[in-house]
Amino acid sequence: MSRNYTTQMDAARQGIITREMEIVAAKEKMAAEDLRALVAEGKVAICANKNHKALNPEGVGSMLRTKINVNLGVSRDCKDYDLEMQKVMSAVDLGAESIMDLSSHGNTQPFRRKLVAECPAMIGTVPIYDSVIHYQRDLAELTAQDFLDVIRLHAEDGVDFVTLHCGITQDTVRQIRNQSRKMNIVSRGGSLVFAWMSMTGEENPFYEYFDEILDICAEYDVTISLGDACRPGCLADATDNCQIDELSRLGELVERAWKRNVQVMVEGPGHVPLNQIAANMEIQKTLCHGAPFYVLGPLVTDIAPGYDHITAAIGGAVAAMHGAAFLCYVTPAEHLALPNLDDVRQGIIASKIAAHAADIAKGLPGAREADDKMAAARRVLDWEAQFACALDAETAQRIRQSRMPEDGHSETCSMCGKFCAVRSMNKALNHEYIDIL
Ligand code: SF4
Repeated sequence: MSRNYTTQMDAARQGIITREMEIVAAKEKMAAEDLRALVAEGKVAICANKNHKALNPEGVGSMLRTKINVNLGVSRDCKDYDLEMQKVMSAVDLGAESIMDLSSHGNTQPFRRKLVAECPAMIGTVPIYDSVIHYQRDLAELTAQDFLDVIRLHAEDGVDFVTLHCGITQDTVRQIRNQSRKMNIVSRGGSLVFAWMSMTGEENPFYEYFDEILDICAEYDVTISLGDACRPGCLADATDNCQIDELSRLGELVERAWKRNVQVMVEGPGHVPLNQIAANMEIQKTLCHGAPFYVLGPLVTDIAPGYDHITAAIGGAVAAMHGAAFLCYVTPAEHLALPNLDDVRQGIIASKIAAHAADIAKGLPGAREADDKMAAARRVLDWEAQFACALDAETAQRIRQSRMPEDGHSETCSMCGKFCAVRSMNKALNHEYIDIL
């Protein structure tokens, strides 16, 4: 059936409630008409490329459940596509709503097409990563048209959103060279754009040819995730001129995209001290007109390599509570290596905890349901019911079963054994004798 709209935003503005809007509204426990209005305004993005037939659509917006993204893909040093596919499926099972394929080695198209054919989660890419390997030419040899052609290739392949670092210009190149930023640019895509601009002396092609990019995105309904090349890479760089200048330019591009009915999200920091996160969310909302905010962390300290899933979850929970809509997961391998299966799992669980904690704080309908069920199950020491509510039941079961109480009091756990407060209180309130010794 041919559709009489280009993008979800175009449909929403024509008053059409699409199949995707109906599915998302049901998941969010809201009226489809209310969701349509939010999509029309740009406050919710439904990243749904018309060629991604396996997609189970999700909405991204601060008034909806907080979504999480998992980055995967092969690199020169870890190029096992089967292993990456296993990570994808495990990520989807654990509740990831989005997968970004950041492959930077070999022929990336078969893996991308397999993802689109099989993966129900939203799929994102960073086309500039693929440009060098697609053409097998060095960065400086690529032309602006080459970059546009790779965006089109990803759009045709069915990618739901693309990260494009449109917000840096030759002014940013001068700014970075003249300012004493501790970590310069730490965004991989951003550093490639910066390097290309430095080597060629030309303007950022993703900025200069933004209208051509909008044509491609409108044709396939690809959401643009406006990349933050200048996201702070350490606490000392947080909320500095480079970051805010770029954000302001991204705000202009949000309006240009919306004029053409192209959906957008805006990417955000980075490494940010806890006390600056709320202000960062407010600045983004103001400068970017309420477009959904996709945060990469924020990591609240720089000194915990090996534990950055925790530093990011702390920042992510606070960011989402203050308006971020979408959290990019961070694994314990961040800053150290390509994550393995276990790192991926730990990163996802940490992000899910952050997203869930924020949803409770936001008071979303039904957000606390599982927590209340958990409390009821703990109150009666019903272990199976507790596992059924757990974000990671497998780990919870494994820990309990490996360390059961020795004295046969299996209704308690080995933390307190017969001193179990829950058991004592249940017995006391029932006027039962409490045997401790
Ligand atoms: S033994 Fe202690 S930790 Fe375990 S369920 Fe009872 S009160 Fe909770």
